[in-house]
Amino acid sequence: MPEITLAPYAVTAQNSQGRKHPETEPRERTEFQRDLHRIVHSTAFRRLEYKTQVFVNHEGDLFRTRLTHSIEVAQIGRSIARALNLNEDLVEAISLAHDLGHTPFGHAGQDALNHCMKKFGGFEHNMQSLRVVDKLEDHYGGFDGLNLMYETREGVLKHCSLKNARALGPLGERFVKKLRPSLEAQVANLADEIAYNNHDVDDGIRSHLITLDDLRAKTKIVSRHAQDASKAYPGIKDRRLVHETVRRMINTLVTDLIVESRSRIAKARPASLEDVHHAPPLIGFSAAIAGEQQELKHFLMENLYRHYRVMRMSAKAGRIITDLFDALIGEPRLLAPQYRPRKGTEPARAIADYIAGMTDRYAMLEHRRLFAIDEG
Ligand code: MG
Repeated sequence: MPEITLAPYAVTAQNSQGRKHPETEPRERTEFQRDLHRIVHSTAFRRLEYKTQVFVNHEGDLFRTRLTHSIEVAQIGRSIARALNLNEDLVEAISLAHDLGHTPFGHAGQDALNHCMKKFGGFEHNMQSLRVVDKLEDHYGGFDGLNLMYETREGVLKHCSLKNARALGPLGERFVKKLRPSLEAQVANLADEIAYNNHDVDDGIRSHLITLDDLRAKTKIVSRHAQDASKAYPGIKDRRLVHETVRRMINTLVTDLIVESRSRIAKARPASLEDVHHAPPLIGFSAAIAGEQQELKHFLMENLYRHYRVMRMSAKAGRIITDLFDALIGEPRLLAPQYRPRKGTEPARAIADYIAGMTDRYAMLEHRRLFAIDEG
């Protein structure tokens, strides 16, 4: 299908490096729509519903999960892509897939699993997201994984260590040569940042671990948007004030990103996707807004992510992951047959795949099954 309104440096089926296993062109949808449809229909995508963002899944029904987080990233990413004449379908595909490789229990789970895997090549959630879409999804007749377009895979692999980059071949080359990914990947990456900073403010206040008053006192971005909200609706308070503040912050960030990126693009004048790879990052915030974002991130780190109650949950999560790994690596025959290493996969990697694929509640259940004598 024609993608005539796109900028000349946007990713299209025509300038794409395509799929590993060639397929017939889709009818009535674009190649990148096909990718995002495959992602939505994957098993790993459904699991995101029961995986932690900051709060463990059972802590409350209203907190973001990895699924609602990914949907918010996609919404923000699409708005930016449309304004910049980039490929919206690709941004949506990357956004929906970017967290597929996350372990249960958020960053605490990832750190614990990385520690367990130290002797076996380590564990990085971005590499795991790529592994999910390239290898672990197993419901297509013709190939393992989802056989996605190269640029979707490039966007999913946001970062990786240099060692892993070298082992990855063409997809890892950009990290070695220090080239930029597509503008669509850059958009998805910053949409992720806009989404989590804002929803963590919202969830943090909802959980009573942080307060709007404290945020107003210590961060410029919250302070001025809360003031705007109070001016628009005098006497507004509680959840309405929080929401009116957060929606204004998202709007400011998205608008700033579009305006700043447009001016960077106008200056660099890329004529093709190839030019984008060699240009400096063209998607970004203005210096003033980037500074405000940093201040907010710092506040969240100090007051939310390192809150003693979050730290306690993280410590428990780390112990569960470590216990599971130690039990299974000590005796791989404890694994149900369908999770045993497939030909060519190291036992430790198969165990990491199994653990990374677990939802929060499945990890807790499996822990009880392996450690509680009256559970089976
Ligand atoms: Mg994310």
